[in-house]
Amino acid sequence: MYNSNHSIASNLMLTVVIALLIGFVIGHPGWTLAFALIIWALIQIKQFNRLQQWLLRHERHEVPEATGHWGELFDELSREKKRQQGRSQSLRSVISRFQQSSSALSDAIVIIDNQNNLEWWNKAADRLLGLKVQTDRGRSVMNLLRDPRFIRYYRKQNYDDPLQLPSPISNDVILEYRLTQFGVGDRILIARDITRLKQLEQTRQDFVANASHELRTPLTVIRGYLETFLDQELPRPLQRGLNQMATQSKRMENLVSDLLLLSRLEASPHISDELPVPIQSMLCRIKDDAKVLGKEKDQTITLDIDPTHLLLGQEAEIYSAFSNLIFNAVRYTQPGGEIEIRWWTDRKGAHFSVKDNGPGIDSIHLPRLSERFYRIDESRSSDTGGTGLGLAIVKHVLLRHGGKLAIKSTPGLGSKFSCHFPMELVAATSRLEEKPSSTDDQEADTTERT
Ligand code: ADP
Repeated sequence: MYNSNHSIASNLMLTVVIALLIGFVIGHPGWTLAFALIIWALIQIKQFNRLQQWLLRHERHEVPEATGHWGELFDELSREKKRQQGRSQSLRSVISRFQQSSSALSDAIVIIDNQNNLEWWNKAADRLLGLKVQTDRGRSVMNLLRDPRFIRYYRKQNYDDPLQLPSPISNDVILEYRLTQFGVGDRILIARDITRLKQLEQTRQDFVANASHELRTPLTVIRGYLETFLDQELPRPLQRGLNQMATQSKRMENLVSDLLLLSRLEASPHISDELPVPIQSMLCRIKDDAKVLGKEKDQTITLDIDPTHLLLGQEAEIYSAFSNLIFNAVRYTQPGGEIEIRWWTDRKGAHFSVKDNGPGIDSIHLPRLSERFYRIDESRSSDTGGTGLGLAIVKHVLLRHGGKLAIKSTPGLGSKFSCHFPMELVAATSRLEEKPSSTDDQEADTTERT
């Protein structure tokens, strides 16, 4: 930083003192002082002009030479200029290293400014997204990636989950887009080619779907024969064996139908149609079934429904998700336990929750609970006759509806499973759409307790 020992003030003082001394010697102190001040001012103006000219032609010219305080100022400017050159040199080399390394990446990287225009991209973006330096720099990203699903994702501003879409230049190439915000409204878009992964995933899904489908017919035949045999008068040991075979074949049938349902849900990431789902009457029906399922447990099941809004989606899938959660609560909660079912809406969207005061789940299991066949403890699950696919089905149904599953649980106190749906899928209930069945009329009206 410039710190002059010869400040302008002391220089001026010196000039004044010398001029007065000379003035007194020659007998004209006033004139001598005036003359000296004019000379002093002219020198300052000249140096100031040199500084101004150098500042205007900064890059090309050396800093001017001078003595005194102007000399110190020019030296300091010269040193600052060298420091700046060093800094910009290292910045240039960082940028060029970044560009080289990002060019070597197989993922497309695109930098988008706060006006949604393309600012910079790497070579992979040319190949995967079809961007062209000559024509596309400065154009809006939404003019180049025009798929409405991408535009919705881009505008959503919530980029927690990636988006999978065919590449804009070939439907055979599947890309996974990830957006990250930085600076003030700038974004980095990363697109990854996941075609191979998708093909492998598809092969796995096809295998599970085909195997489940093929298992269905032999299982139906076996169950048919077992039921016929069980209708006969048979010796007790034979009867016991056949009963066990019938129970196990029923379990296998449930497993096969859950596997088939899961394959269907996995086949596409979004629902095709958004139709009004009469949540109120649906929950009343599930509650009646839950009472039958837990008839020996004497549990209290309460329903708390906000009747003003319903959901837009696929009724059969929503039924499957909600019933899985409610039946789980019945199956895992001890006799005499309490189960609360809620449906409500707020500014964020629509929400469904099932809360029980059952055995609860240790937090280490929660992140993996919705994986297929993940079980906390084998004995607990085999007693209840579950397939191990219930929560995986719930998760996929919610994904297809743009929703999320949240699980809170405390061992020994109980669990709460909540489904959150986005605002786009919420609609005000019209009388035609939400007509509760006659038996449910009283229950379904508002908050209901049994
Ligand atoms: P399952 O067919 O075994 O019930 P799910 O996928 O529905 O499979 O559930 C996975 C596991 O989560 C269950 O095995 C069970 O241990 C646990 N679980 C699910 N719901 C509850 C609940 N309400 N209370 C306690 N544990 C639960």
